[in-house]
Amino acid sequence: MQITEVGISVVANPYSEMVTAGVKGGRAAHDIVFLEIKTDADLVGHSFAWGGRSGQATAHLIASIIRPLLIGQDPLDREKLWQDVRRMDRWWGFLPIYAHGPVDVALWDLGAKAAGLPLYRFLGAYRNKLPAYASSLILPTADAFVEQALQYRGAGFRAYKIHPWGDPSRDIEAYRALRSELGSEMVLMSDPVAGYNQQQALRIGRELERLNYYWFEEPLSDYDLYGYQELCRALEIPIAGVESTPGGLFGATQYLTQRAVDIVRSDVSWKGGVTGLMKTAALCEAFGVNCEVHTTTNALLDIANLHVSCAIRNCEYFEILIPQEPFSFGVKNPIKIDSEGYVHVPVGPGLGAEIDFDLLDNNLICKV
Ligand SMILES: [Mg+2]
Repeated sequence: MQITEVGISVVANPYSEMVTAGVKGGRAAHDIVFLEIKTDADLVGHSFAWGGRSGQATAHLIASIIRPLLIGQDPLDREKLWQDVRRMDRWWGFLPIYAHGPVDVALWDLGAKAAGLPLYRFLGAYRNKLPAYASSLILPTADAFVEQALQYRGAGFRAYKIHPWGDPSRDIEAYRALRSELGSEMVLMSDPVAGYNQQQALRIGRELERLNYYWFEEPLSDYDLYGYQELCRALEIPIAGVESTPGGLFGATQYLTQRAVDIVRSDVSWKGGVTGLMKTAALCEAFGVNCEVHTTTNALLDIANLHVSCAIRNCEYFEILIPQEPFSFGVKNPIKIDSEGYVHVPVGPGLGAEIDFDLLDNNLICKV
């Protein structure tokens, strides 16, 4: 089998306005880049890439740098293709972290389809469901977080993660309000997205311990290895990090060996696809550390994240950003929770996604 064509389309997110106010730094372009890896065997692998600040920029990077490496290759040689891209990028630093992973996801979709298996079984299944948590955007008030958490608990979620403002005194108010209004049963996590300095993170971490939060995620910038090491020494609450550490899998190694993180955050986009995420999960497992898979904010990559989560043991929760619509458009079978708060992995071949081709066509910005 040979790769004959790599289709790359930039698609506007019809729900973009719903999330502009809830994302740090204002408007992130929520375009997606739709990838179609076509073969001479009539099999097609699909994926969405994250648009970052510009879907067109991501599309052109993939088109200019990765597409020429793929044409004429056997799509089942996933490890070779992964190493080819990584080697080139290691030497020259051409690619942002979110450009490679989606291509690898499309190759895994194709490979699992060729085998006639859902991806999680193609990888080697461990389970077919896991509990989900509702993950907020940034909301205007502490009361708004409480109201949202209550609403989603009513819908079946047993866990809620707040993305607060990154202002310690305001954040503490929201942390306390959530615990007092949601009660002791609800699992709560915090992710200030690098919102604190080291002193603030220590103070907030102690408060989160008092409030029995489940984990404290990305309190500092991911590059602050020393700061993370100090926090892990000082606090009992598990510290989660390494979501966007440069070097992906290889950057995570430093945090594990130096005891600078208790939980490694990973996904298929920023750790180099299914290939990179499976390697990262295995690395973490060897260190006795959980590899908690985080959202990639689009439908196909989150379905890929779910497949990997069901093919590894050392991941406890699945992240669902709320409201879901802006992050799940483009498929007719978006991930949903059941009445007990679990998400179930799709069982069709490959990713098992029912792609909404009409919706993608109707929101097409350009083909590259
Ligand atoms: Mg995070």
